Amino acid sequence: MSPDQSARDYDFATQAIRAGQPFDATTGSVIPPVYLTTTFVQDGIGGFRNGYEYTRGGNPTRTALEEQLAALEGADRGFSFASGLAAEDSLLRAILKPGDHVLMGNDVYGGTHRLVNRVHVPWGVGLDTVEMGDLDAVRAAIRPGTRVVWLETPSNPLMKITDVAAVAEIAHAAGALVVVDNTFATPYLQQPLALGADVIVHSTTKYLGGHSDVLGGAVVLNGGIEVDGEDLADKVGFIQFGVGAVSAPLDAWLTTRGIKTLHVRMDRHSANAQALAEALVGHPKLARVYYPGLPEHPGHELAARQMRSFGGMLSVELHDEAAARRFAESTQLFQLAESLGGVESLVCYPSEMTHASVRGTALEVSPAIVRLSVGIEGASDLVSDVLDTLDRV
Ligand SMILES: *Cc1c(COP(=O)(O)O)cnc(C)c1O
Repeated sequence: MSPDQSARDYDFATQAIRAGQPFDATTGSVIPPVYLTTTFVQDGIGGFRNGYEYTRGGNPTRTALEEQLAALEGADRGFSFASGLAAEDSLLRAILKPGDHVLMGNDVYGGTHRLVNRVHVPWGVGLDTVEMGDLDAVRAAIRPGTRVVWLETPSNPLMKITDVAAVAEIAHAAGALVVVDNTFATPYLQQPLALGADVIVHSTTKYLGGHSDVLGGAVVLNGGIEVDGEDLADKVGFIQFGVGAVSAPLDAWLTTRGIKTLHVRMDRHSANAQALAEALVGHPKLARVYYPGLPEHPGHELAARQMRSFGGMLSVELHDEAAARRFAESTQLFQLAESLGGVESLVCYPSEMTHASVRGTALEVSPAIVRLSVGIEGASDLVSDVLDTLDRV
């Protein structure tokens, strides 16, 4: 399947498996080979075969992943990086110059806030955070120099839902670009470009890779977005090549393999998380359950409109810090670890783990919150694990 217009008519599942995956013309190998090479022989000086010259600039295994990513987000161009943060940094460098301003949700991934706050702010960029669900607050926080409005929905760890179309309307009226970090939802559950966003970023380390065995990141967008007289996609491509935080061929291949089952995994992640959330509502040891699939969640109706289902991430608030710590350290199937989105269930204590970098800032997370990345093991085993653990804390 080539990345032409007709490919866009295929179902998501077909694209996940087939986009960027033509069989090998030389051998008939159904799976395209992993091109573990740094360089490519030239047919005479400058005679590149299919444009390949040196792997930092391009490698067929990375191209396969980039075509797959673009197809799944319904975009023209995909760029794959060594990590989610490398992707974010390359995108921001392509857009920003000193004096520009970034407006971010007050609950974005801690590392994203740290990247801008500790790397781009000292370089002369302005940064503010805002409650993205409060559209008046978003309008008020946009300044003449605002170039980027950056949001995550569902957010981490409180699963807040942002109206992508409404924020895009406000940002576009002010001449700013909307970047959506679509890591939690994945393109299977949510298509931010169709909702009006300009650029998607991913930590492919999470659900896209899906097996907790490969780090990666992506920038996905359409051509035709002009930034300082240049096409933004071309600028991202230049920084990917010129700075070099690319994904290695084997990493790209593992990510591609993971993506082929994304739709099947996400259906199960959502079903398991929904079952767990419903089993936990009203539990006496919990002050609150944060899951957008629950009707009482404040973003439930918006999420139902914006997403295919509600995803595999769920947070709970215990009655105090001590109970939260005991809970996070006592589950059996849910393993205490950073990260999320793998087939195996993980538990995380955000205030000292994923969100340690934002302690003391507006993004600080309550010490009574515990986050669960609900895997695709048997739902009843996962529910029993959490209920048994709550009995003991
Ligand atoms: C993990 C994560 C990132 C950072 O990605 P890395 O691959 O760890 O660099 C960015 N955004 C979200 C939502 C994440 O969960």
